[in-house]
Amino acid sequence: MAYDPTNIFAKILRGEIPCDKVYEDEYALAFHDINPQAPVHTLVIPKGEYVSMADFTADAPAELITGFFRAVGKVAEELGLVEAGYRTLANAGTNAHQEVPHLHIHIFGGKPLGPMLDTQFSS
Ligand code: AMP
Repeated sequence: MAYDPTNIFAKILRGEIPCDKVYEDEYALAFHDINPQAPVHTLVIPKGEYVSMADFTADAPAELITGFFRAVGKVAEELGLVEAGYRTLANAGTNAHQEVPHLHIHIFGGKPLGPMLDTQFSS
């Protein structure tokens, strides 16, 4: 899937629309989700044009991959989530209901989060 530079996270990265920023460095930007699904619900996005985990891990420079995942860890730490625990999640594609086609890792925390998925698996 080709990267669409008009997606909303691309606009946030370019400063065209605001976000509730939590953290930023040369590799990543983190901001609170506009529609939180937990007491803490933060998104971390890489600074680069990547749709999802597949193209990011295949095509991004190693320094960006390292920097991005370090940022995810730092954000969880700075949000005070490490001791009680938290969940990270990255949706990719249709089956995962990815809404925004710019790689993002959700960080959820602030309460017991229940089972990993809210539906029972059935074939
Ligand atoms: P996903 O379904 O994994 O693509 O998740 C996209 C997430 O982006 C959803 O949780 C939305 O609530 C969130 N979102 C969409 N627009 C914004 C925005 N302008 N600022 C912050 N979060 C947003």
